[in-house]
Amino acid sequence: MSSHQPDLRFRGLNPTFNFGMKIKSIRTTTICVPLGDKVFHSSQARFPARNSCLVRIETDSGLIGWGEGGQHRPPQPVAACLNHVLGPKILGRDPTEPVRTWEELYSFSRDFGQKGTYIEALSAIDIALWDISGKALGVPVWKLLGGAFRRKIKSYATGYRDAGFDFVKVKIGLLDIRSDAERLRVIRQSLGPDVGIMVDANHGYSAATAIRMGRLMEPYSILFFEEPVVPEDREGNRRVRMENPIPVAGGEAEFTRYGFRDLIGGGCVDVAQPDLTVCGGFTAFTQILALANAHGTIVIPHVWGSGIAFAAALQAIPTIPPIPHTANPIPLQNEPVIEFDRTHNPLRDELLNERFALVDGHVLIPDGPGLGISVNDEVLTRYSS
Ligand SMILES: [Mg+2]
Repeated sequence: MSSHQPDLRFRGLNPTFNFGMKIKSIRTTTICVPLGDKVFHSSQARFPARNSCLVRIETDSGLIGWGEGGQHRPPQPVAACLNHVLGPKILGRDPTEPVRTWEELYSFSRDFGQKGTYIEALSAIDIALWDISGKALGVPVWKLLGGAFRRKIKSYATGYRDAGFDFVKVKIGLLDIRSDAERLRVIRQSLGPDVGIMVDANHGYSAATAIRMGRLMEPYSILFFEEPVVPEDREGNRRVRMENPIPVAGGEAEFTRYGFRDLIGGGCVDVAQPDLTVCGGFTAFTQILALANAHGTIVIPHVWGSGIAFAAALQAIPTIPPIPHTANPIPLQNEPVIEFDRTHNPLRDELLNERFALVDGHVLIPDGPGLGISVNDEVLTRYSS
């Protein structure tokens, strides 16, 4: 131990923690996995491939952190931003200062990157730096963020429901509202009263149509109405929330504490859905969580992307307190759940050496250091675009 390094043994900290660690390299990989005949459909668009931008940050001590930025968008702009703008700025920095790094990078790109590609790139860096910080201290990210309120998370199925799911999310918004309401009637009838149903319109309605649809859906006990109108239409979201009987969810296409300040503070949503790979990583997530909590808004992160994005959500969700705090947290009432997309997703199911255990409708929280995952290099190379 050199003379300028504090002797951490006397503080009860990990004596191997390296205070002088620096970021040595940053490498991006864009991924494209054609889905063949298993194309995914939202209510508004067709997704013939799964895309992602992954980032690998290596330190001079050999620690490696993984991050991911963006979700179903083209990954090349995020990679370009990382390779040419934000990436070079973090070389030589201390990787265990993600909050400081976030503020400085955001401040640098504020005039041209308050939303979209720059924040997705920043999300990827932030997730990787928290991964490294956890590995440096030998603890999972959820512990660094303050502790876990739960060690397993109730999951809900998107795409289709198979055995073991108590919740299912159904896409609406492609058909006329009477036909979609009839679909929901049939789905409710076939699932019975005990399965929770949510709907996602992928912002396919005007406010007036969404309000009519909300009233048509009322008999089917829908738990939330996701993205009824375009996310930037704050007044429309607010109207839908005030004038339809179903709680409104949204936020997968929103960015940073500033975007969520307007969404939550503006009374636009009952359920906030930040995506770790979009909103600004763990750093932004903790700020959004505090904002939401102060407004009594439930937080249920949106999850898409690869196994890295899923792993990041698995570190963030345990840290969400029941809102409000209660002796008996109930999923989707005051307890978060995790989206477990049941459609074909090789990026989630093959990229990592670890498998996410689904036990009795719950996903177990990993307790390895950082994100608790490692990437299979052979699979990464196979899917690189
Ligand atoms: Mg959605």
